[in-house]
Amino acid sequence: MSIQVTLPDGSVRACPEGSTVRDVAAGIGPGLAAAAVGALVDGRARGLAESIPGDASVAVLTFADPKGREIYRHTTSHVLAQAVKRLFPEAKLAIGPPIEDGFYYDFEVSRPFTPDDLTAIEAEMGRIIEDDLPLERREISREEARGLFLGLGERFKVDLVEDIPEGEMITIYKQGDFTDLCAGPHLPSTGRIRKIKLLSAAGAYWRGDERQPMLQRIYGTSFEKESELIAYLQRLEEARKRDHRRLGKELGLYQIHEETGPGLVFWYPKGARVRELIEDFWRREHRKRGYDLVYTPHIGKIDLWETSGHLDWFRENMYSPMEVEGKEYMLKPMNCPFHILIYESETRSYRDLPLRIGELGTVYRYERSGVLHGLLRVRGFTQDDAHIFCRPDQLEDELVEVIDLFQHMMKVFGFDNYEALLALRDPQSKKKYIGEDAVWERAEAALTAALQRKNLPYTRGEGDAKFYGPAIDITLKDALGRGWQGPTIQVDFNEPERFGINYMGEDGARHRPVIVHRVVLGSMERFFGSLIEHHAGAFPTWLAPVQVRVLPIADRHHDYGAEVRRKLEEHGARVEVDRRNEKIGYKIRDAELQKIPYMLVVGDREAAEGKVAVRQREKGDLGPMPVEEFAARIAPYLRPGGAV
Ligand SMILES: [Zn+2]
Ligand SMILES: [Zn+2]
Repeated sequence: MSIQVTLPDGSVRACPEGSTVRDVAAGIGPGLAAAAVGALVDGRARGLAESIPGDASVAVLTFADPKGREIYRHTTSHVLAQAVKRLFPEAKLAIGPPIEDGFYYDFEVSRPFTPDDLTAIEAEMGRIIEDDLPLERREISREEARGLFLGLGERFKVDLVEDIPEGEMITIYKQGDFTDLCAGPHLPSTGRIRKIKLLSAAGAYWRGDERQPMLQRIYGTSFEKESELIAYLQRLEEARKRDHRRLGKELGLYQIHEETGPGLVFWYPKGARVRELIEDFWRREHRKRGYDLVYTPHIGKIDLWETSGHLDWFRENMYSPMEVEGKEYMLKPMNCPFHILIYESETRSYRDLPLRIGELGTVYRYERSGVLHGLLRVRGFTQDDAHIFCRPDQLEDELVEVIDLFQHMMKVFGFDNYEALLALRDPQSKKKYIGEDAVWERAEAALTAALQRKNLPYTRGEGDAKFYGPAIDITLKDALGRGWQGPTIQVDFNEPERFGINYMGEDGARHRPVIVHRVVLGSMERFFGSLIEHHAGAFPTWLAPVQVRVLPIADRHHDYGAEVRRKLEEHGARVEVDRRNEKIGYKIRDAELQKIPYMLVVGDREAAEGKVAVRQREKGDLGPMPVEEFAARIAPYLRPGGAV
């Protein structure tokens, strides 16, 4: 008897019954056998020692595969837990999953872990790896598992055993003196782990629920090669320097106040300046492209959200209603219903379409406090929203226009790299979606054609569409290659039906328009966060809150400094004079830290000759020059998109 194994290249191999993942890897080649960390067997991750059940398709995983790295790093989390139990025997184990770029493990301990603890734990992990302990897998009954973890005093594990659905297999993995409840898979032994690093520790609630006990989470990572670990740590350090929460504070851009509550952003004067520049540019671009810009209220009667359907499918992200004169009102989580009211306030004919209604609209969404993050996940934010009401035959051209608009805007903000996802229906389960087949097909064809006309490479995401229409989702790539949620273009068949909006066709009959919901920047908050990190806080000159800082060498140069400022302001530059009683070296350092693009040093000589000694951020001295010459030099960079 033998089993048939299908490899990813489509070839089929016969393997003896009882073959393990390791046997299959060895059959393919000795190099792969050495590098293998597990396999996907019919799509499910399995360990090397597991046998292959019957005929299966098998893809051998190495560290180079994301799924392979998960096995590798998840195994490292077991080593971490074993080390912690050796050094802190009273610690209670929670969970230890792999995450992007690493893993964590949660423990209940009497006090938070210190940096010294992490060093000691890492050393203990090194010993466990050196001992090359095999990980032994065992299937056990629910009763046995409960008894085992009760006996060990591991109450979170007992909870987890209770969670496993009836009928599902329960497995434990043992390595030396340590046993964990786990579905696997893992590396066959701890010695397969090469380079480890514990990164940080932080509090985290059991099950992510603030009513549950506070645990201590240790984050770490592991790699096969030292060079990979070093490169990763450097990337991490670079990301830390760019962290918008830290730069937001250091550069005086924004803050979140305990007094008002989490997730609610205060734009400080410098951040507000940047936002104003973004908004001015945004408005100009939208006017140019035929958008009508509006303002709408922040709250609306609950009936409106009933009609729109948000109460059915978006309720958990909405705040509770407030009562006003016996009627219930809700904070708006989206602007769409308001724009639809504007659309339907007049009789629309086919000649009026497309109608493009845009708004920098502030919305409020309930996000759990555990997921809030700086400017990226907040509870109140302003979307650069617009709704395009068009005839079905206009859809493709409108989509092309929107792609053109966002490509232009992203370039101006310095994002040249992005990826597009075309979110389509799952063809296997068309019933999940609202709207007729023909309408979907037409819309999907329009989106595809628009992407092709704009030469925008994309991946097709079958099953990624929302229930009410297909979409294009853009991910921006920043200077470190990290992805940020970017523009989205969403076709909608649902709201036009629910609100019963229409237009008079050429034939004199009523027809349904299509709605395209689209954001380019997403939200002002999140976009600002990505902009800060992409530029590491050193905004291009046109976006810098302060473009030029004049640095008088002594008090007697203040008047000349003010004159320089006045002249440059006439050219439209944003200028500050540093009037502090500090040494010039200190003033230069401070201006560099504040990431101001240009510093103009002025002393006796400059004042006498009507010049300024120019320093450029990061580049250093550009030498002395007349004020007018400097003004002419920076003029191109003051306009949106000015490169430097
Ligand atoms: Zn495990
Ligand atoms: Zn909308």
